[in-house]
Amino acid sequence: MIKNHNNPLKKRIILLIACLLLLPFLPLAAEPWGFFAHKKINKLAIYALPPEIIQFYKRHRAEIEDMAVLPDQRRYILYKEAARHYIDLDQYTISSIMFTQWEQIKQKIPEDSLQKHGIVPWHIPIVYKNLTRAFLNRDTLSILKFSAELGHYIGDAHVPLHTTSNYDGQKTGQTGLHSFWESRIPEILDTALEDWIGPAEYISNIQKSSWEWVLDSHQEVPILILKEQEISKQIPQNKKYSFEQKGRIMQKTPSLFYSKKYHQSLGNQIEKRFQAAVKHVSDVWYSAWVDGGQPVFK
Ligand SMILES: [Zn+2]
Repeated sequence: MIKNHNNPLKKRIILLIACLLLLPFLPLAAEPWGFFAHKKINKLAIYALPPEIIQFYKRHRAEIEDMAVLPDQRRYILYKEAARHYIDLDQYTISSIMFTQWEQIKQKIPEDSLQKHGIVPWHIPIVYKNLTRAFLNRDTLSILKFSAELGHYIGDAHVPLHTTSNYDGQKTGQTGLHSFWESRIPEILDTALEDWIGPAEYISNIQKSSWEWVLDSHQEVPILILKEQEISKQIPQNKKYSFEQKGRIMQKTPSLFYSKKYHQSLGNQIEKRFQAAVKHVSDVWYSAWVDGGQPVFK
């Protein structure tokens, strides 16, 4: 039998396998909030939960942490995934889209245009419904999956650079700013990010809250850009970067000196966005459990 090498299904399978094989070698700069921070957000959110559910989440902490990064890994194999992680608010008249719902905005703007500029504030309520349904069905696997993924998208909604088309500083001559802000500095801060954020509180309108989170993030964009420009001018080129071992790869990264200077100039901006993310992940898990009939876990 003659094999058809142009079979489109076969091509897609080969591409999928190639992507999966390449995943461990993709550069760290491509990791929004960094895998480190996403896992940490999900882990810390557990400890703000009330007694009725904290034991369940603690028991499954490893899965909740591991699955926190699945949505980013999926970006390379699922074409619809990338748009769920950001929204380019600078591409809109913000007042004309803020606080809208997905079904509503699709009446006004073509879906391909919405997908192009990112959909994170509309996607969070969709995953929230899935999590609520999982609680209603007492479906442990789905509860873990949707909790972890909600943690991811809520985390992304708290990153200022996920709310602008200048997402890597590429439009202002600051390429690399994305991983500098959300990976390099959080990794340096590490345990300094672990402040107690208060008990989880019920959120009655997830759509409205999702909008508030991205709008708050967006307000932080100008200072984040400006401070890096200022600090960058003050530091000589030979003091800006160092090489550090990341797994098996030696990676060029902003030096400790440069990172600390930039972090100080931001005045706790990173800590505040990180801790808000932890708080809101916890709030949303708790709210989904309440809306899902408050199942008792033994
Ligand atoms: Zn992401």
